[in-house]
Order: sequence, then structure tokens, then C-alpha cells
Amino acid sequence: MHIETNALLKPYNTFGLAVRCKYFVEIRTLESFKGLIQTTIYRDHPHLILGGGSNVLFTRDFDGLVIINRLKGIEIVSENDNEVVLRVASGENWHQFVLHCIDNNWCGIENLSLIPGTVGAAPMQNIGAYGVEVKDVISQVHTIDVKTGDEVSFTNEECAFGYRTSIFKTTHKNRFFITSVEFTLSKVPHFNTSYGAIRQKLQEMDVQELSIKAISDAVIAIRSEKLPNPAEIGNAGSFFKNPTVEKPFFDQLQKQYPGIPHYPQPDGKVKLAAGWLIEQCGWKGKTFDGYGVHKNQALVLVNYSLTAGQPIYELSEKIISDVKNTFGIELEREVNVY
Ligand code: FAD
Ligand code: NAP
Repeated sequence: MHIETNALLKPYNTFGLAVRCKYFVEIRTLESFKGLIQTTIYRDHPHLILGGGSNVLFTRDFDGLVIINRLKGIEIVSENDNEVVLRVASGENWHQFVLHCIDNNWCGIENLSLIPGTVGAAPMQNIGAYGVEVKDVISQVHTIDVKTGDEVSFTNEECAFGYRTSIFKTTHKNRFFITSVEFTLSKVPHFNTSYGAIRQKLQEMDVQELSIKAISDAVIAIRSEKLPNPAEIGNAGSFFKNPTVEKPFFDQLQKQYPGIPHYPQPDGKVKLAAGWLIEQCGWKGKTFDGYGVHKNQALVLVNYSLTAGQPIYELSEKIISDVKNTFGIELEREVNVY
């Protein structure tokens, strides 16, 4: 285990911010992590565990220890004719894991294709896309308590998953290093094409027989057309969560904005598209000195040439305040700010 000093974090965050951290280490085994938390560097400094750095905004240099998760391995815990239970090390790349499941005809996460980052960060905000959330297939999350070094496992219920959230992002933030995740995937094909964009793309691709591979290909195609590639333009995907409002509030809003996109939820509330709200406020495609709002998707803030992300944070404040003044809705950031 080699601890570097004054390391450049540009390759480790998808905003491409060239901030530095005081200490930096890559972790490849559980034992080395347990050893690390005994060191004075760990004990005397703030620390931050990073996977792919695709959901973080660094507003300044990080005055502590950054730990890059490189734990690897996929094992079958059990299987029968209907399902397979997999235990996947948290440093595995998420999209490569999705492709591995598709190759094996294991069904359940194909709609989550091409989401950047690691398996270990997936439970953190209960990653979701195109009508599927990772909570639907997680049976257990295995962790190490970073204070005591104890191994602690959480059942699906104990994770308190919600829309882009879990205990790892709220009450237990920074308390547990997620070391592996157990997934229960189906061997019996079932498909989720509830999002219009997928159905349209499958039609364009002239898919005759639906399969998890076809859905994955459709999702990859849509995402590649629509979202900025972090290798070309720095970004962390959606900067804000989509807000959900009470039905009577929505009814009033709809009178004023008849074209407002909306999605009724099972609990009677109504989900709105944050990107649309931001676009109506005139922010879509706005470019400032080295950063801005993406031209195709107003939910995505982009970095062209900043070194540190404070101006992006300030832009997000202005957007939140503008949306609040215009629609009376308070947007919440999805990205983790440091
Ligand atoms: P990081 O950014 O490294 O970390 C995120 C947070 O989790 C940090 O607070 C970190 O400390 C913590 N963390 C990371 N690993 C661990 C661990 N092992 N144990 C404990 N804490 C940990 N998200 C979606 O939900 N749906 C999408 O469709 C989606 N699309 C995206 C598209 C693009 C182009 C981009 C750039 C991002 C997108 N995201 C999406 C956001 C992001 O990819 C996910 O949140 C992803 O799970 C982050 O993984 P990561 O390994 O990069 O996490
Ligand atoms: P989109 O298809 O333009 O739709 C805009 C928003 O409306 C989405 O965010 C989605 O909410 C909601 N929506 C659309 N169709 C819906 C339906 N049939 N039922 C319920 N809600 C619906 O969105 P997009 O930006 O291109 O993203 C497509 C998918 O990828 C979305 O699921 C989105 O969450 C996900 N994505 C996430 C990130 C991220 O960083 N978190 C980045 C890119 C894409 P939901 O967000 O709740 O699905």
C-alpha cells in the first residue's frame, strides 16, 4: 500500500477538475483497507472513498486522504433454474458488470447500461434509469465500518432505498465502505420498456424479438446520442434530482403551464422533469467562463476548462433559486459536493 502526497485528482473525477488531495491511495484488498484505517494519516485526516468519481463535484482541493476503490471479483453465491445470486466486489466497473450479466442471460439490470462508475457506488444513490432502479435486484450490501473496522452487512430493507438515495447517502454517509454487493438476477426473461425513448429506439433499430441485449443496445444508443461523454466534456450526469410534488400543487402548475411533462407516481404524487423546469428558466446551453449548462440536457452541468468546481456550485445555486422563484419548486442536488 503506497500513500502518495499532493496527488492530482483530474483522472479520478468525470468533471475533469484538476484539484489535488493531500494524500492518495488505491485499495486492492480488504486487508489493505483494514490496515489503512489503523494509520495515523487515515485517523488524523478527513477521508473520501471514490469509485469512478462520476457523481462528485470538487469545489476545491481535498485537504485529506482520497481512497480509490480497486476491489475486484464476481462470484456466484447460488443459483437455480429461475435466478442467480451474485456477489460482486465494489470496485468492479458497473457497465462491464451489466455486460457480463447480459452475456450470461441474467436479467434485471439491462436498463442500467452505460451508467459510469463502480458497483460499490450503485447502492449509494440507488442508481436508476429508464424505469429500473438497482434496489430492485440488490439483496445485500456488505461493508466495513470505517470507524471500527468491523464487517457489517445490510439487507435490502435496511438500506432504506428511495429515489436516488439510501442510508449510505443520508444517515450513514461516510460511515461505511461498501466492499461488495449481492444481486439476485432472473434467468427468466422479463423486460421493462415503460420509457417511450426505449420503445422508439427499439423500433428504429428494427428489433423483431425483444431481448435483454436489444434493450441494452437501445439504452446505449440513446445515452450515447443524448448525454455528453465525460471523456470529451467534463460532467457528472444529472446534477439535480427530478422533483416530486403533491397533486393539488401540480394541478395549479398545469393550469399555468399546460405543456409541463409529468409522471403520476403510485403514491398519488406527481414527478416532474427537472431538466424541463431549468430549460423554461432559460439556462439550457448557457456557457460561462469555462463551464455551463449542457446544450441538449439542461439537467447536466458541464466543465470545459475549470480547475476547481466552485463556479459550477454557484451556478447550481442560481439555478435552484431561479426554479424556486419561477415554479415554487426547490430542486435538490444529486451530485455529492466536496
Ligand atoms: P463516485 O463518484 O466515485 O462516488 C459517489 C459517492 O459515493 C461519493 O460520495 C463516494 O464517497 C461514495 N462512494 C463511492 N464508492 C463507495 C463505496 N465503495 N463505499 C462507500 N461509499 C462510496 N446515475 C444514475 O443513477 N443514473 C444514471 O442514469 C446516471 N447516468 C450518468 C451519466 C453520466 C454521463 C454520468 C457522468 C453520471 C451518471 N450517473 C447516473 C451518476 C453516476 O454515474 C452514479 O451515481 C454512479 O453510481 C457513481 O459511481 P462512482 O463509482 O463514479 O461513484
Ligand atoms: P428523459 O427520457 O428526457 O425524461 C425526463 C425525465 O422524465 C426523466 O428524468 C424521467 O425521470 C422522467 N420520465 C420519462 N419517461 C418516464 C416514464 N415513462 N415514467 C416515469 N418517468 C419518466 O430523461 P433523460 O435525461 O434522457 O434520462 C433518461 C433516463 O436515464 C432517466 O431515467 C434518467 O433518470 C436516467 N439518467 C440519469 C442520469 C443521472 O445522472 N442520474 C443521467 C442521465 C440519465 P427519472 O429520472 O425518474 O427516470
